[in-house]
Amino acid sequence: MTYDIHISDVRMFKSCRRRWAWQSPILGNWEPELSPLPFVMGRGIHLAMEQFYRSGVPFLDTLDDFFEKEADVNGTLWASEIESLGEAQAMSEGMLRHYDLWRQQRSVSNAYADNSLEFIELEKSFRVPLTPDADLTGRFDGIVHHKPTDTYWIWEIKTAAQIAPLRRSLANDEQATAYVWAANHFFPFHVNGLIYNILRKKVPPAAKVLKTGVLSQAARADTTFEWFSQEIAANHPDWREDTIQEFYGNYLQELKQEGNAYFARFSCLRTPEELDVFSGHLMATVEDMIAVSGAQEALLYPSPSTMNCGYCAFWDPCLAVNHKNDPGVFFNARFTQRTDHLERLDPQGDSEIGA
Ligand code: SF4
Repeated sequence: MTYDIHISDVRMFKSCRRRWAWQSPILGNWEPELSPLPFVMGRGIHLAMEQFYRSGVPFLDTLDDFFEKEADVNGTLWASEIESLGEAQAMSEGMLRHYDLWRQQRSVSNAYADNSLEFIELEKSFRVPLTPDADLTGRFDGIVHHKPTDTYWIWEIKTAAQIAPLRRSLANDEQATAYVWAANHFFPFHVNGLIYNILRKKVPPAAKVLKTGVLSQAARADTTFEWFSQEIAANHPDWREDTIQEFYGNYLQELKQEGNAYFARFSCLRTPEELDVFSGHLMATVEDMIAVSGAQEALLYPSPSTMNCGYCAFWDPCLAVNHKNDPGVFFNARFTQRTDHLERLDPQGDSEIGA
């Protein structure tokens, strides 16, 4: 038997063996019946990006379709759940509308602007043999060729409440290293690292309209050059460029210089030395996972830190086990067992990229 070890499984095993045993495709393979909304938003945004960069489908067309299907899949929802899904859709639409402005206007000065990238693969699943018993599996958001430097990179989309703390952590992100290691064993060309495309999970608030009819230019307003430019156009549709410059020129210049807290696109290199150190840990961890997969429940102990419990869907069954109660009641009521893990890894097959 060959075990399919997913990259996210490796991290989960290290952070909490109990959760891993419930969620991993090689053991329990349970997932919540209703996905947490941040995951739903993430899936919708990934799909919209994929369709746009694959074949030019406008972001909002894909997103609207996605949320319509999501509501259908979830069947009969409570009123509060419908409301939350609507809020998630509105937030995702605002984020992608803003991203589209940034992508077209500001990102042209970015070293990794859209026009410098050739998308080789999108949502590409992979399988890399690890040991005689195990393959590493997963899916890349994309693989891009950076034309100015003739180099290859993983294209990685992330959404975050705040970009700066996430950005700092990525140089030491083991999951990212795992993807680069896998890419270098899967593709016939060298993959240098990752190009991150990060969107903040927030839409700027509308600028205040002052009694004079002009937009507030409050210092440190939570906006971007691209978003504020759009608001000027919407509030003053008849203004000519010289009038806009007279009223807002300095403020727009400041916004342009300050950069933005909403989007970031940058590269993160992984050296051959890093990949080598990582691969030693990966092999050892996978051996542990296989050994433990047939072992006593006592070896599937919970996380020593509740830091890992924040987003865990298994909180209630976990408490039940701590009290020697049967967690089955929670699994029957709120979870479902996946049967299509590998199909989900590659829903798009090998379709052409034409965008
Ligand atoms: S609640 Fe915490 S300890 Fe329990 S399974 Fe989830 S991550 Fe592990």
